[in-house]
Amino acid sequence: MDLYEYQARELLEEQQIPAPRAIFAQNSHEVAEAADSIGYPCVIKAQVKIGHRGQAGGVKLAHNRDEAILLSESILPMTIHGHKVNGVLVAEAKNIIHEYYVSISVDRTSRDYDVLATANGGTEVEEIAKEHPESVKRLHINALGDFDEEAAKRMADQIGFYHADAEQAADILLKMWKCFKDNDATLVEINPLAKIGDPDDESSKSLCALDAKISLDGNAAFRHDGWKRFDDPTQSDSLEREAAEYGLHYVHLHGQVGVIGNGAGLVMSSLDAVSGAGESQGTGVKPANFLDIGGGASAEVMKHSLAIVLSDSQVESVFINVYGGITSCEQVAEGIIQAFDELHSSKPLVVRFDGNAAAEGLRILAQANNPNIHVEDTMEEAAATAAKLAATALASKEAKR
Ligand code: GDP
Ligand code: MN
Repeated sequence: MDLYEYQARELLEEQQIPAPRAIFAQNSHEVAEAADSIGYPCVIKAQVKIGHRGQAGGVKLAHNRDEAILLSESILPMTIHGHKVNGVLVAEAKNIIHEYYVSISVDRTSRDYDVLATANGGTEVEEIAKEHPESVKRLHINALGDFDEEAAKRMADQIGFYHADAEQAADILLKMWKCFKDNDATLVEINPLAKIGDPDDESSKSLCALDAKISLDGNAAFRHDGWKRFDDPTQSDSLEREAAEYGLHYVHLHGQVGVIGNGAGLVMSSLDAVSGAGESQGTGVKPANFLDIGGGASAEVMKHSLAIVLSDSQVESVFINVYGGITSCEQVAEGIIQAFDELHSSKPLVVRFDGNAAAEGLRILAQANNPNIHVEDTMEEAAATAAKLAATALASKEAKR
């Protein structure tokens, strides 16, 4: 789960990592109030869960109230790299002397944590890193060991912080590590970690986090009260939220064939099979969603899954692909029948069962004798039938129009 900058800042502030004063605002009235309270000049920053906002015109300097309002009116309606702006952060402007980049992230390859840092931070960090890979320092934090003051100091020295900054950098690294661990993060990134102050006054200089990007490990949500404080009802899909309440892995995809399966790999293959069928049949029909019911799913879970998929008004047919391992096809079949009874759905369903209790499951479906339930032997055949049924339903809707 990715956080907005204004949310990520909260977590940095909890560790007392220095950051400019800032206020989140969602309309020009709030911006005016925030800017007056922060003072001028201030920075108006688009809040979107994507980087490179600066280059896209989403970070601007305002010198007075009118300018703050004007800039926010141009930034608030923006869509940056496909992400709708959710508000702006009005932040105290700082005089930047130098920009560093520092991040801590999970490294799956070495099964530990990586500290990445470079003295060439800022908006061009990727380009400079590509041209001068030697300028990027990568250091590991052992997954089972800890990261103490001495290690942080050593790291700050190796990373290439200029002499005067190394001590504060070590302190910030330690605090970032605590932020990373305490919050079950997968990424804590500060870019720029800026050296700010008056260039002519050595004592005024210090490091300050001018931007923050944090991703949290969704699997740890239960340890943090579901991260309710980071809920984003304006952006998250209502079906996705409903599915999350039942512990289902659902992703809305906006096609016409609902897809339900057990195991992420099988569901991904099913999505490909549906897209492939839509293409080869020349209808362009596509999957409406990804839904993984997981291992050992009960009839109850199947029922909720079908209810969620069928409540998507774009869905014209549903493809259920279950390879029974821990999951019993018999349970899945019972869930399907229960859901059909309760939902009074007339949308066609195509089922492919294999593995644990497949024969029992198929028997239950046959006994129901429901003309809307179709059975196929293989994933490809089932995907083709589901795509065809969705296309037929769409065509008959078009004809009625
Ligand atoms: P990003 O483009 O999404 O990474 O957004 P950032 O918050 O990192 O801002 C982009 C750039 O704007 C930074 O690298 C800085 O150069 C500049 N910037 C951000 N805040 C300030 C500030 O307070 N003062 C000055 N002078 N520049 C800033
Ligand atoms: Mn940045």
